[in-house]
Amino acid sequence: MDAATAATATAAAAAMVWFRKGLRVHDNPALDAARRGAARVYPVFVLDPRYLRPDPDAPSPGSARAGVARVRFLLESLDDLDSRLRRLGSRLLLLRARDDVSDAVCGALKDWNIGKLYFESDTEPYALARDKRVTDFAAASGIEVFSPVSHTLFDPAVIIEKNGGRPPLTYQSFLNIAGEPPAPIAEEYSVLPPIGDTGEYELFSVPKLEELGYGDISQEHVPPFRGGETEALKRMRESLQDKEWVAKFEKPKGDPSAFLKPATTVLSPYLKFGCLSSRYFYHCIQDVYRSTKMHTKPPVSLTGQLLWRDFFYTVSFGTPNFDHMKGNKICKQIPWRESEELFVAWRDGRTGYPWIDAIMIQLRKWGWMHHLARHSVACFLTRGDLFIHWEKGRDVFERLLIDSDWAINNGNWLWLSCSSFFYQYHRIYSPISFGKKYDPNGDYIRHFIPALKHMPKQYIYEPWTAPLSVQEKARCIIGKDYPKPVVDHAAASKECRNRMGEAYALNRPGGGDPVKGNKASNSRQRKISEYGPDSSKSKQPKYKQLRRL
Ligand code: FAD
Repeated sequence: MDAATAATATAAAAAMVWFRKGLRVHDNPALDAARRGAARVYPVFVLDPRYLRPDPDAPSPGSARAGVARVRFLLESLDDLDSRLRRLGSRLLLLRARDDVSDAVCGALKDWNIGKLYFESDTEPYALARDKRVTDFAAASGIEVFSPVSHTLFDPAVIIEKNGGRPPLTYQSFLNIAGEPPAPIAEEYSVLPPIGDTGEYELFSVPKLEELGYGDISQEHVPPFRGGETEALKRMRESLQDKEWVAKFEKPKGDPSAFLKPATTVLSPYLKFGCLSSRYFYHCIQDVYRSTKMHTKPPVSLTGQLLWRDFFYTVSFGTPNFDHMKGNKICKQIPWRESEELFVAWRDGRTGYPWIDAIMIQLRKWGWMHHLARHSVACFLTRGDLFIHWEKGRDVFERLLIDSDWAINNGNWLWLSCSSFFYQYHRIYSPISFGKKYDPNGDYIRHFIPALKHMPKQYIYEPWTAPLSVQEKARCIIGKDYPKPVVDHAAASKECRNRMGEAYALNRPGGGDPVKGNKASNSRQRKISEYGPDSSKSKQPKYKQLRRL
């Protein structure tokens, strides 16, 4: 064998598995294919400064794009992945990108003479651009690439193709096309091929959060959810143990104020980082269904929640500028108002509405809130009270959520702001009575806002109505120890409804005159508003389309 042939044979025998999401060993098609296809496997993760570089000007500790709670969750997940790989005779090779992650990957591919590259496909715009730089390099260097779909139940591209090249824009039309997802990989293995020579490379162990330079994080609460595949599988099994709970799961019936024992699974951060395979989760739920007499159905069931996830992945993949109002064909154009003062009050949990503020504080401290709690604060910021752009709220969630997910977050902000998917803008969550319904004593508020701890039950949702003597006794003077409401909900929500009505009228084809309008286009617009943009094809009755949650 000549030297060139020998080098090619060595390269063919060496594979890199590039982890980004998909931080797991179970049901991992990229890892599974690599172990079958190569004698040496380099499992790599590159720390990305885009997400991790400290930003001292950020409103809370962390980077510009990620709060410390999510960074902590990521580091815990990497640590766990490394341990699990070590148990299989391998380890995680952690690299640090100076600037662009793709440069670090291409450098390692070249330096380690890799012949095959395996990574899970990712449909986010940032990931698509990053991955293209790497696959272009691989093509030019004769490196084989295998990039399976395993972050979602289905391949968004295939669903779009089956729908004639456009993403299905209602949940029901998505379900009609989707069918059953592929089964997860069932085979477990006890050993992985060894890693090869890493030459001069400086390999890092997973850093501690304190080492990343975020300043004083001692005051930050540690979320009660620990990252990693081990924890994900444990949490999933615990959730599915109560078969009756799984079979009867109905999302709209959950209690958003339950924080000691949340009303839902809290598997979203594990699905976000791929510590848990959504296909594996889906199939485990199906196993439970098979052992029970009856079970709820999508959209409200537990499998229905995973299908919502795939729905938003598919629409976001097929919609240019999905994360913007401008240039986004499925987004209503609404003249949101600018008010930095109101926005900051919302972001920092200082609106004077305890229900809203407690949720925003839970977001900052834990990085997770119940779905209906997210509804409340998203509605309040946008079409409910403050009339501030959904993109600003989206950015706050994107930075602070531990389950922050580009497709799902943008999709839900479009939904809640009545910019897309859902159009009943007159239905506004009350920042007072909605939370009270679930938690009349205000335990959730008392936990996250200690200043209100001693406020009597009858004033806990509207502390500004408490007589001064009561405020003094509760050691909480409104306007001093806790803010006065930034707006009057009754007046603000009325104004928001009017503004939304005007904006919707202008969004009508040939709009501009909301009073006269155009009969034909108005009736079409009504249909679009109530059923979603592609509803003309759907035969579902109205309430089914709207019952989401
Ligand atoms: P469960 O009810 O146990 O559901 C199981 C899984 O289904 C979840 O883990 C999640 O992956 C998926 N799921 C549940 N609800 C939805 C939904 N409405 N849309 C899509 N997938 C869903 N979820 C995120 O994962 N990341 C986000 O960035 C995100 N941003 C949101 C922003 C707003 C304004 C709103 C209203 C919702 C957002 N959600 C987001 C959706 C939802 O609130 C969370 O997925 C859910 O609360 C997570 O808790 P869980 O894992 O206990 O959910």
